[in-house]
Order: sequence, then structure tokens, then C-alpha cells
Amino acid sequence: AKEAGRARMTCYETAMDAHREERNALELDLRRAIETEELTVAYQPLVDASSCEMTGVEALVRWNRPGHGPISPEAFIPIAETSGLIEALGLLVLRKACKAAQQWPDLRVAVNVSPGQFRNPAFADYVRSVLNETGIEAERVTLEITEGYIIQNPERTRQSIERLKALGVKVALDDFGSGFSSIGYLRQFGFDRIKIDRSLTMDVLEDNRAREMLKATVALARSLDIPVTAEGIETEEQGRALQGFGCDELQGYFYGKPMPEPEIGKRLAVQLAA
Ligand code: C2E
Ligand code: CA
Ligand code: CA
Ligand code: CA
Repeated sequence: AKEAGRARMTCYETAMDAHREERNALELDLRRAIETEELTVAYQPLVDASSCEMTGVEALVRWNRPGHGPISPEAFIPIAETSGLIEALGLLVLRKACKAAQQWPDLRVAVNVSPGQFRNPAFADYVRSVLNETGIEAERVTLEITEGYIIQNPERTRQSIERLKALGVKVALDDFGSGFSSIGYLRQFGFDRIKIDRSLTMDVLEDNRAREMLKATVALARSLDIPVTAEGIETEEQGRALQGFGCDELQGYFYGKPMPEPEIGKRLAVQLAA
């Protein structure tokens, strides 16, 4: 029995070594991808819930890893977070997105911010320097943060948000309804917008509980004068339902998948000509 135990441990160790090696290789490639700007940014339309006109875009990082193909940000953002690469990655995305938005008159641009960026007291300084460098109007920029970090560090969150809002940028609470959403924090932190997570919106037509939660959440946000975006809309019926509950902005494959920068330009040109 002892022998067998030892053999099993060895096999786990081998598997762990392989895993560690793969992770190290990924980290190395990611570091290079940031330095060489191998990372790109896709833009997904944000549309007005009543007119369906595109009023903004969300910037989403993309990585086509050589020899491996496209990797989901859900796979490499956590690695960027734990290996100290997230600040460089985040800055790259913010810079590209603000530059791109300069060609799109009046479109808002939303950029995701990781806890690892937000935690740094100098983050607002980075944001200010990107605003200066690109010349974009601060109020066109929305920074999306998730609630996980907030709950752990309410006081520091409040300070960071104040600093960002002093620059004139907007701050949105992302993925609302996906975890332990605290409705009390909504007003307390002065969020300019909340984004309702796809895990709630996807069930809006089938699941009564999801529907009631959605209705209540949107109604509460509206009573606090906080506008609401619903994410992950894949059908017209879902969109209509969420508009009916009071969402002013919608996002999802039904209105447009994340696309390269030039596609947004074309779409905007068509819209402006109409
Ligand atoms: P998120 O911020 O919640 O972004 C929305 C995600 O939902 C995107 O996935 C988008 O492609 C996807 N999506 C949008 N509409 C639909 C729909 O109708 N159906 C379905 N099934 N999915 C939809 P993506 O691009 O894979 O990004 C995943 C997550 O990775 C993001 O979730 C965000 O948390 C993170 N992420 C992406 N780009 C960045 C970035 O530049 N910085 C940071 N820190 N995180 C990022
Ligand atoms: Ca987001
Ligand atoms: Ca989200
Ligand atoms: Ca998400």
C-alpha cells in the first residue's frame, strides 16, 4: 500500500509539473505579447434601448497566441493578475481604446479595470496621462469595475472612485447580479452606471426568479437615478423584456459581437448617414 501511495504521489507531481510548465510558458508568451503589442482590442456595440442606435462600445482584449490560436481573456487575465502584468496590459487596452474612440465622434468607450490596477493608488494618474496623451474627453470614458474587490476594500474603493470621478471619467459597476451583489453599495460609491450580468439576463424569459430579481434590481437602480445596461442579450425578445423593465442600454450578440476597430467605424458611418 505504501508503494502504491508513493507511485500515485509521483503521478500527481508529474501532472503538477506539467501544469506549472504550461503556466510559465503562457506567462512568458503573455509578457512578450504585451511588449510587442501582439494583444489587440475588439469593440462591442452598446446600444440605446429604445432606438437600438449604437451609443458606445466596450473594449475587450484579444490575444491570438502564436502556435495556439485565440485564447479567451477569461484564461489569461487571471494570469496577468498574478504575474504583475495586469497594469501593463490594462494600460495598453486603455490607450488603444481611447485612441480608437477619437475617430468615433460622441461614442462612449467602456474599458474593463482589474482589481490589480484599481488597487494601485497611482491608477488615476495613469488614467489622467492617457486622457492627456489621446486628447479624449474624459466624460466619454467609462471604467468598468467588478464588485469582488469592492466588498473586500470598501474604503479604498471609495477613495479610488472619487479620484477617478474627479478626472471626469465615469465609473460603472460591472457583472452586477453575478455574485454577492450588495445593493447598499450602489448609491454609496457614486457609480454612474450598473451593468447587469449575463447570468441574470439569459434567463429572463424562462425563469420567474431571474425575472423578478431583474425587475427589482433595475427598479432600485432607477429610483437612485443610476442608469442600467443589460449584458448578454442574444434575442430580440430578451432585449424587449429588459427595455420594458427600464434598462436604458443593451449589449449582446443580438446587437453586435465584439469586432475589430474598422468595423465599428463602418457601422457608425452607416448610422450617421441614416
Ligand atoms: P465582461 O466585462 O463581462 O465582458 C462581456 C463578455 O461577454 C465578453 O467576453 C463578451 O464577448 C461576452 N458577450 C457579450 N455579449 C454576449 C452575448 O450575447 N452572449 C454571450 N454568450 N457572451 C457575450 P470576453 O471578451 O471573452 O471577455 C470575458 C471577460 O474578460 C470580460 O467580461 C472581462 O471580465 C474580461 N476582460 C476582457 N477584456 C478585458 C480587459 O481589457 N481588461 C480586463 N481587466 N478584463 C477584460
Ligand atoms: Ca465589462
Ligand atoms: Ca460584464
Ligand atoms: Ca463577465
